[in-house]
Amino acid sequence: MSNNETMMQYFEWYLPNDGIWWKRCAAKAVKLADTGVTEIWLPPAYKGTGQDDVGYGVYDMYDLGEFDQKGTVRTKYGTKREYLEAIKAMHDAGIKVFADIVLNHRLGADETEEVMAYPVATNDRNQTIGEERMIRVWSRFTFPGRNGKYSKFVWDHTCFTGTDWDENTKQTGQLFCFSGKHWDQQTDIENGNFDYLMGCDVDMDNPKVVEEIFKWLCWYIDQTGIDGVRLDAVKHIKFGFYRDLLKRIRSEKKIALPAVGEYWSGELGRLLYYLDTVENQTRLFDVTLHYKFFEASKAGSGFDLRTIFDNTLVSARPEQAVTFVDNHDTQYGQSLESFIDDWFKPLAYALILFREAGVPCVFYSDYYGNPGKDRPAVPNLERMMRLRKAYAYGEQHDYFEEPQVIGWTRLGDQKHKNSGMAVVLSNGGDGCRQMYVGEKYAGSLFYDVTGGCENPVQIGDDGTATFYVRGGHVSVWVCQKAFEDIQINV
Ligand code: CA
Repeated sequence: MSNNETMMQYFEWYLPNDGIWWKRCAAKAVKLADTGVTEIWLPPAYKGTGQDDVGYGVYDMYDLGEFDQKGTVRTKYGTKREYLEAIKAMHDAGIKVFADIVLNHRLGADETEEVMAYPVATNDRNQTIGEERMIRVWSRFTFPGRNGKYSKFVWDHTCFTGTDWDENTKQTGQLFCFSGKHWDQQTDIENGNFDYLMGCDVDMDNPKVVEEIFKWLCWYIDQTGIDGVRLDAVKHIKFGFYRDLLKRIRSEKKIALPAVGEYWSGELGRLLYYLDTVENQTRLFDVTLHYKFFEASKAGSGFDLRTIFDNTLVSARPEQAVTFVDNHDTQYGQSLESFIDDWFKPLAYALILFREAGVPCVFYSDYYGNPGKDRPAVPNLERMMRLRKAYAYGEQHDYFEEPQVIGWTRLGDQKHKNSGMAVVLSNGGDGCRQMYVGEKYAGSLFYDVTGGCENPVQIGDDGTATFYVRGGHVSVWVCQKAFEDIQINV
């Protein structure tokens, strides 16, 4: 019997730098699996610019907390051994592990080099704004602490396309493309060309770089046993790169290696163009839906809920969509801040957890809350995940007729006992929908497990009933036996 897939992003930006994260992951594996998590996205595991690096300031991808580099053996999350133990604990619990793969850039070089380069406009990277000149760049990575173990590859300026720092002038706000290089074509078109994001931009047009990355990924998979990959910043990387890398690694290592890419754009057309270009080798996080949630949470009752899935990836290409509500970048104070308002979060989670389309990804901070940032946990989120695992199956009937109250039902299936549900949500006042849950439930009682409606409703002979919701809430109605089971489990 296969259950619904549910991914969880098991970290956030503001975790303490205490080195016990991997241990915590290992300790939580069984509980997470029981709650319904089938895939876990762990933070970048390799050495960044320092011990407190979240993991996106990549220094050495072969150092998973094993070598004394950047002033530390462990990473923010712990040591390599602890990372491997966390992965094993997840596997033992039946959870697949997704590694966070950050290939766009490198930071924290060991040595500088003198490089000829030309300055380009930061808001139009195709535009040269000055004479070619000699600059001093932090671009030589020799990894002295690792001393050639696993790979003797030394990164230098020939492996990169450009950078934003000249050690001679120390001026901020500049961007340089190295002489003889050009930004990767086939990237996002924001700022003329969005190849460059930060640090030293890795040159995916350089065959020796591409080969080294392939070797590294083989090594990583062999060392850790990861099941899948979360691809960072794909809009800043030549689109053909991941298409070719994923095809090759799957074919040579004979593994499925599911992938989900972060293409940060609220424009559906750009996501679809990317998927077409990479020949659907990866799924993408549904950023379009995230922005619909953001908009809906700000607009309150002024938002037309019937349009919530319009122009979203999960509607346009459901098989390629990983839906989510928030992540480490949308948190307060982060680069893509667009945090969904508290009142709407349970509604948003219902819209990803109980639908047929898309694989939902639950965010760590929504599940546990974020005391340091004064953020509460999303009410009932664990319960909703359990509801997804146990009951969100079968045919889906939509009732998207009114702007402020929408609903849908799942009719359940044979394999999942007592499955099926009726979901109704409101961004206005109290409301209700008459909906069909199937004649098999005729005469039986359904209970609201999330929205606080106290009285049960009885299903009529025609398999329908009127399901209620309180204003600004979501109600998930399930049959009596399911209702009793879920009370025991949470
Ligand atoms: Ca790039």
